[in-house]
Amino acid sequence: MSTTRDYYEILGVTKESTEAEIKKAYRKLAMQYHPDKNKAPDAEEKFKEISEAYAVLSDEEKRAQYDKFGHAGIDGRYSQEDIFRGADFRGFEDLGDILSSIFGGGFGGFSGDIFGGGRGRRNAPMRGSDLRYDLAISLEEAANGVETTINVPRAENCETCGGTGAKVGTNPITCPACHGSGQITSARNTPFGRFMSTTVCNKCNGNGQIIEDPCPACKGTGKIKKVKKLSVKLPKGADNGLRLKIRGEGEAGSSGAPSGDLYVMVHVQPHKTFERIGDDILYELPISFAQAALGDEVPVPTLYGNVKMTIRPGTQTHSVLRLKGKGVPHLHGSGEGDQLVKVIVQIPKNLNSEQKELLRKFDEIDKKSGGKSKHSGIFEKVKDAFNP
Ligand SMILES: [Zn+2]
Ligand SMILES: [Zn+2]
Repeated sequence: MSTTRDYYEILGVTKESTEAEIKKAYRKLAMQYHPDKNKAPDAEEKFKEISEAYAVLSDEEKRAQYDKFGHAGIDGRYSQEDIFRGADFRGFEDLGDILSSIFGGGFGGFSGDIFGGGRGRRNAPMRGSDLRYDLAISLEEAANGVETTINVPRAENCETCGGTGAKVGTNPITCPACHGSGQITSARNTPFGRFMSTTVCNKCNGNGQIIEDPCPACKGTGKIKKVKKLSVKLPKGADNGLRLKIRGEGEAGSSGAPSGDLYVMVHVQPHKTFERIGDDILYELPISFAQAALGDEVPVPTLYGNVKMTIRPGTQTHSVLRLKGKGVPHLHGSGEGDQLVKVIVQIPKNLNSEQKELLRKFDEIDKKSGGKSKHSGIFEKVKDAFNP
């Protein structure tokens, strides 16, 4: 049943009546027609009618809406019959309070908000979304620290309309369908009981407001996509998984609410020469058979430039030498890792005849001395073999 009778008429009040007068009139009529008290066949219909009228007229905003637009200004759900059907009258906070005071309780347990009583308003200021920016840096940058500029695409408040989305000089209006709550609540009776369901208002998409005259700059969204240049400083020792929070540099909030935050996620790119293991750097150094056997001093690249490293005579392949402090600085605390140099002895290939001859000679000497060059203390012989 949909009431089309004038709400003021139903309650026997006038447009000039005060809130108190309307409440008083409603109390009187509710007492008279409450189905528990009044067994007349039309009592229930009457009760629904006066409840509906009171629900609108007791709410300042809805009353104004009704005064302006009549029944058309009030959403159809006020006259949804099923709201008023059944023995319980759940769902009306203020209505329930009144009924409780009249009938002495029994109207508790309201699920509330049928009439958009202010909870869950969607047009309330909403903080902007957080943003994530993935920043790739080199291993050198991770070790030395880096200051770089990033370009963050994000939504900013439209400067033309100040973020309201409404054309300058106009204002958004409260959505007449949900009365600003952004939600539509309805009740449904089923054989299992009564169910309240809340859905997003499809007239305003849950915003609670409708922009009749949109701002041409942002097309009514209140937001403009912009690319913000931001300077980011990464500390020495940055590693994968490091997350920097830059407060307030996320997306703009709505209705003057604060912006979200920006999270910069650090990704250290793989290096073509070095492998990072925690704060240590692993480097593989190829050396010749002769260098390994005779010893040498070789330049070794590090994150901080070349350094000279001594290869001791008789160095075995895959031995690991340590360059102290040439790793990545510790992100937390002082100090830094080391560079680990793994020596890879290259076995010569494609020898020329002279090299082959020398090696055979070396082998002969080695056999005569009982293969002692495999052990320490025989390097002079080896040296002779290679430097005749
Ligand atoms: Zn709405
Ligand atoms: Zn705008």
